[in-house]
Amino acid sequence: MNPFQISTRLDGVGFSDIVTIRNRVMELRAAGKPVFEFQGGEPFMPSPEPVKEQMIKALREDRTRYAPSSGIAELRGALVEKLKNKNQINIEERDVIVTNGGTQALYVAFQTMLNPHDQALLFSPYWTPIADMVRGCEAVPVLVSTREARTNGFAATLENHLSDKTKLIYFNTPQNPSGVVFTQAEAEAVADFARRHNLLVIADEAYEDLIYDEPHFSIASLPDMRERTITTFTFSKSYSMTGYRIGYAVAPEAFMSGLQRLTLYSTNGVSTATQYAALAALQLPASYLEESRMAYRVRRDLLVGGLNEIGFPCDMPRGAFYAFPDVSRINRDSRQAFQILLDRAQVASVAGNIFGAQGESHVRMSYSLPLETIEAGLESLQRKL
Ligand code: PLP
Repeated sequence: MNPFQISTRLDGVGFSDIVTIRNRVMELRAAGKPVFEFQGGEPFMPSPEPVKEQMIKALREDRTRYAPSSGIAELRGALVEKLKNKNQINIEERDVIVTNGGTQALYVAFQTMLNPHDQALLFSPYWTPIADMVRGCEAVPVLVSTREARTNGFAATLENHLSDKTKLIYFNTPQNPSGVVFTQAEAEAVADFARRHNLLVIADEAYEDLIYDEPHFSIASLPDMRERTITTFTFSKSYSMTGYRIGYAVAPEAFMSGLQRLTLYSTNGVSTATQYAALAALQLPASYLEESRMAYRVRRDLLVGGLNEIGFPCDMPRGAFYAFPDVSRINRDSRQAFQILLDRAQVASVAGNIFGAQGESHVRMSYSLPLETIEAGLESLQRKL
């Protein structure tokens, strides 16, 4: 036995391709080349002033000691209200846990629900870290084409991927990278399938506030779904708080002790001052989210309109802040297309097949950018490709 070998549990776990892209962009910049950076995944605005002020105040007032590892009571109380009013998920304080971003919420959710060899159904294209999180449980991600489900029906499509090892469905809406928003009828179809086959659900609602055409709908609000669903949320996207690292999960009693133990032994909770900052975010007037949604909508319309005009067909994303154009006219291999866009037009994106085979022939471009950058990037694409 060689003791200097990493645990076999990590055998299938990759390291984000997106980091590789970021490094390539940094190289180009270091070489003095301008790059239009559409590859990112975070809000372009600074975090709100009251959030920053509340964090500074917490530090000044020496609220710097250990907090309960599942979160401070004030924040959990405010989350209970938010979840009741906004998500129609009726819970009590003991059903919600504060985590280091949506990422940790998802990590502890998968670790709690999956055993080795279990299978998890992921609608694809999907947010890349999810497959790695599933593999990190020594379980198996099984990709289900979102397009196929929307065309042929959810039950029939999911049925094709069902086995006696299927344990759960990962249900992300609005979706990264496609901007797809599942309708209430689609959520009902998935919930019905989960109930019928006794499956669990991990619902990822990171972009719940970045939704343009309809109200957000939480699958856990459907009858009998609370007991079989862990829903994860984050402050990152709604409130431009990516660097604070704070999110939360709602889980039924059967799973909450798993989330609590994993959080306790991995991070022992979120920094105390950050939790007060999150509380301030929840207390912002509703107009804050409305205004930021409008700012994203203008950017979405500009980028998607421009891409379609230039000849990169792109469905209108109904949520999140990504466009997912078809770039097959440059190259059907999305990694090649990504390289060509970068080398010829200095437009950085993310190759679509990183998000699963169903993302092939596409790239992901964020429109969470200053309007001038979107305009300049489009102009460069128009001129050089
Ligand atoms: N879920 C999705 C679909 C995401 O795109 C992200 C971030 O990009 C997250 C969850 C987690 O975000 P964070 O860890 O910043 O809360």
